[in-house]
Amino acid sequence: MNKNSKIYVAGHRGLVGSAILRNLQKEGYENLVLRTSKELDLREKNQVDTFFAEERPEYIFLAAAKVGGIVANNEFPADFIRDNLLIQTNVIDASYRYGATKLLFLGSTCIYPKMAPQPLKEEYLLTGELEPTNEPYAIAKIAGIKMCQSYNRQYGTKYISVMPTNLYGPEDNFDLQTSHVLPALIRKFHEAKESNLPFVEVWGTGTPLREFLYSEDLADACVYLMNNYSSDEMVNIGVGHDLSIKELAEKIKAVVGYTGEIKFDKTKPDGTPRKLVDVTKLNSLGWKATTSMDEGLTKAYQWFLEN
Ligand code: GDP
Repeated sequence: MNKNSKIYVAGHRGLVGSAILRNLQKEGYENLVLRTSKELDLREKNQVDTFFAEERPEYIFLAAAKVGGIVANNEFPADFIRDNLLIQTNVIDASYRYGATKLLFLGSTCIYPKMAPQPLKEEYLLTGELEPTNEPYAIAKIAGIKMCQSYNRQYGTKYISVMPTNLYGPEDNFDLQTSHVLPALIRKFHEAKESNLPFVEVWGTGTPLREFLYSEDLADACVYLMNNYSSDEMVNIGVGHDLSIKELAEKIKAVVGYTGEIKFDKTKPDGTPRKLVDVTKLNSLGWKATTSMDEGLTKAYQWFLEN
């Protein structure tokens, strides 16, 4: 990409898309094309075609998706598989037909088999059964990866796919029913501090291990790979190390400045014992995450306070 390239960020209001947009603006890219979902419904092929015919973007970051936690995935499986298949099919196909130079597709680590060894290597894709609770979402994302590779093979397009680990940052979902652990704990500790509650309840035993990537690091990796990577083999994006839910809770407690106790509600599920991606390939391509957990948590809490 050069500073005048026409770049379309699909999903620029979400956790990932908004971070990519801020990164591009900061780096001086001037020719950005954006549409809200109200202005352009990516599930509608006619609308997508009209948009591509008019704008003809050269570079596309495909960060638009229907996403949600375990509860949402369980309740609306049809919406998750349909909306994601429609969005990605329309954008990937229009990018080819209207002559885009390059497209970056955002996947998710839930595409890996439930029982795959840790850390998760890219080559474990399609080697076993998926986690059933988000299988429809994962199948849509796998279809996106395969669609990118197939278009490259048949049509000579330049499409790349990246698989980010658990993310957090500005525009995150802080709803206690549907959010992931990190934003949920920021909110719980903040509200406990405000109301002087004696303790905060953290679900499960606190022993599961999770990896967390700050959304602005992900955005930096995406822009880096758009400029420096062209193979259609997908690339994991993570930090390469994890921490326990207990350690996470203690860090968030400190960042929020809460002085009460942490209690573990062992009636709530722990979920998978560990989820960590292998970032050997990403590092060998010349990129490494730079935001420490303490720095990222401080920024995420600041955003929560302001919004
Ligand atoms: P997962 O990574 O797909 O398992 O999804 P989550 O981010 O929802 O949960 C990760 C871990 O954090 C699980 O072991 C949860 O039990 C634990 N956890 C602790 N407190 C909370 C909370 O308040 N909300 C959520 N979502 N998870 C929590």
